[in-house]
This record gives sequence, structure tokens and C-alpha cells, in this order.
Amino acid sequence: MNKSEQRENLIWVKNELETLYGPIEKDWKESPLKTLIQTVLSQNTNDDNRDRAEEKLWDRFTGYEELAAAFVGEIADAISTAGLQNQKAKSIKGILTTLKEKGGYSLDYLKDLGPEDAWKELMDFDGVGKKTAAVVLLFALNKPIFPVDTHVRRVTGRLGLVGDGEKHHETLTDLVDEDDMFQFHLHLIRHGRETCKARKPWCEDCVLVKRCPSAEEYLNQ
Ligand code: SF4
Repeated sequence: MNKSEQRENLIWVKNELETLYGPIEKDWKESPLKTLIQTVLSQNTNDDNRDRAEEKLWDRFTGYEELAAAFVGEIADAISTAGLQNQKAKSIKGILTTLKEKGGYSLDYLKDLGPEDAWKELMDFDGVGKKTAAVVLLFALNKPIFPVDTHVRRVTGRLGLVGDGEKHHETLTDLVDEDDMFQFHLHLIRHGRETCKARKPWCEDCVLVKRCPSAEEYLNQ
């Protein structure tokens, strides 16, 4: 499939999912740093566990200064509902310590960088990978980097939107229009959770079945 066919296919998928799930207005109010901490907490867990961990974190610590001064064990204790708490606590403390050394508890300086440079800068923090950095950039800084989580990777892979040997983040960042990124990202996640499930996708109920190269394999199981 060449680039223009790949793009045409992706636009068709995007439109079908918009018809199915409806438009989503982007109304993100959290700061980039708050978004980064939320996204670290959300790694390998569900939204409810992340939200409970975040609530407990800010019940226990009154602000970034106090959080940065806390022991890793104290932070881990506060966020235990999110799982992987020691790793996540170390990462949160590391991020705040680095920001303090840079001059303050804020990621607003990333606004002045181009998307790629801002992405690299975020990935320099301990425990911040491509997906976490991309979420912060797209959600809180309006920078056009497409975040790829496990659902996005699985659904776009099964649909053949990302070719063999291509990198998901880079390919989708290149193919998806800037204005469509937020909604399409969330629609793919929802589709992955509700229909294109990891173990047994519901291809017989899927609105994308007629263009999905993987459907036959699953329908015949
Ligand atoms: S047809 Fe099946 S494999 Fe393809 S996107 Fe839909 S649920 Fe996933």
C-alpha cells in the first residue's frame, strides 16, 4: 500500500469511528506537568485506579515542593492503587527533581520547542517513554505527536494502517491531520476496549470489517 492509499484508508477509518462514537470536543484544562504525572500514574492500569491514585497523591502532598521533598517510599505508598508504585514514585520524584534543577516545577518551557524537540526533551525524564511524552504534548501542549497505547497499536495494526516494519508513533503522526489527532486517538482506544479486543475481537459487529485485512482470520476462528 502506498502513502496516499494508506492515508485514504486511515481517513475512512477515522470517519467511520466518528460516525459511530460521535465528535469529541477537546477541552483539556490540566497543566503539562499535572498531565505528565497523571500519565505516569496511568501506565499499565485502568482509568479508575489512576484517578484514585492521583486523588490520594494530592490528599497526601500539598504541592510539587512537598512532593519533590518526599521519600520515594512515601510517594509509592500514596499511589499504590495505580500499581507499579515504586517505579512510578521514582519516576515522579525524578521528574520533579530535574525540573527543580532546571528552575521550577513547570513544563511550560516546552511550548517554545518544536514537536520533535519537545518529545525528545520529555523522553529524557526517567520513566517517560514515547506514549507518555506524546500524551502530554498532544493533550496539554497542543503539539501534533500521535500517542500510541496498547489499544491504538493493536487496532491500527490489525487494520493495516501501520505497515510492517513501520513505527506506530512516527507513522500515525505523519498520516493523521493535526486537527484530528485528539479525537482519533480517543476513538481508537474506545474501539480497542469495546470491539477490537485483544483476545477476541468482535469482527462480526465491527463497522470497519469491510476494509479490515485481519477480519477473515478472526471471523473464521
Ligand atoms: S474487523 Fe475485527 S480485527 Fe478488524 S478492526 Fe474490527 S474488530 Fe478489529
